[in-house]
Amino acid sequence: MINVTRSYLPDLNTYQSIIKSIWQNNQLTNRGPLVVKLEKDICAKLHLENLLFVSNGTIALQLAIKALKIENEVITTPFSYVATSNALLWQGCKPVFCDIDPDTFCINADKIAACITKDTTAILATHVYGIPCAIEKIEAIAKKYNLKVIYDAAHAFGVKYKGQSILNYGDVSTCSFHATKLFHTVEGGSVTVKDKEIFKSILLYHSFGHVGDAYYTEGINAKNSEFHAAMGLCNLPMLDEFIFERKKRAEHYAELLNNTFITRPKLPEGTEYNFAYYPVSFKSEIELLKVKEGLFQNGINTRRYFFPSLNTLPFLDKYQSCPISEQISKCVLCLPMYHDLEIANIEKISKIINSFA
Ligand SMILES: *Cc1c(COP(=O)(O)O)cnc(C)c1O
Repeated sequence: MINVTRSYLPDLNTYQSIIKSIWQNNQLTNRGPLVVKLEKDICAKLHLENLLFVSNGTIALQLAIKALKIENEVITTPFSYVATSNALLWQGCKPVFCDIDPDTFCINADKIAACITKDTTAILATHVYGIPCAIEKIEAIAKKYNLKVIYDAAHAFGVKYKGQSILNYGDVSTCSFHATKLFHTVEGGSVTVKDKEIFKSILLYHSFGHVGDAYYTEGINAKNSEFHAAMGLCNLPMLDEFIFERKKRAEHYAELLNNTFITRPKLPEGTEYNFAYYPVSFKSEIELLKVKEGLFQNGINTRRYFFPSLNTLPFLDKYQSCPISEQISKCVLCLPMYHDLEIANIEKISKIINSFA
């Protein structure tokens, strides 16, 4: 079975050589030297001032919401993984869903202002599939209405926008280093913050809210381990190669797929993309289901990322309409995409899809 993604596993000897130091110093977790080194190496590679390595991308969002003191209503995208909305709900915030841009599939910045009420405190937007949101417009609205901005950049590791890492935008940008993501630490995530004071408070929150015997605040445990950091240290040097190999595969798909049958989201100008996913849209859900089944019969497992549209989740208080997101989420399918996906399989997948045109 060819899956939608395939986690990279580094050379076992390389991993062992890194974790050997754990047997020497006996520090397994609690911000050990490997965690600190991983943070430093990521900052150097992406030209970031600071980044905190945490246990996953969901708690990264929760820490951001907590540290920015975000409450009440938060304007967010209905087209993302469920963790984006759930992090808000878990922190006691109310997600207010703003429909998406049919070109980029990211939150439609032109519709944000209409969602603002006296209870709005923030915007939580996802760079979905690693496609940058309309950053300038979002920042302008945030400034005008005094709102905080969090970017869920779980898909966007390695993406650059206007010459700098996408993680540099917003009050906070979070990332996921889950095993299925482009760059992974098995489980893991990160928080990047511009403001030094906010960064300090996130550092405190992520480790029980105390330093030694001094207890400051109601913290949580969002720390990650030396073993996870070691996996990151093996995988980080591969980042450029991952992106290069994925780009090649994306170009093959683009060349082979019948582009009157499928459509693709568009990248805003100024984007250096990471090719994290290969989403294609069909004209209807019926068409999508036929193609998905046809691929499955041939041993190819695609995924309906992202379905359902988050504004239709069954556990929400009340239904908020987002017709574009609801339509797109019914019609979009992510095709297999990983750095060593065989080119012959891209040909096979494309041929099957085109046969339904
Ligand atoms: C994967 C993902 C998350 C959650 O990350 P975890 O590390 O799995 O907790 C959050 N948001 C988006 C958009 C994701 O795709």
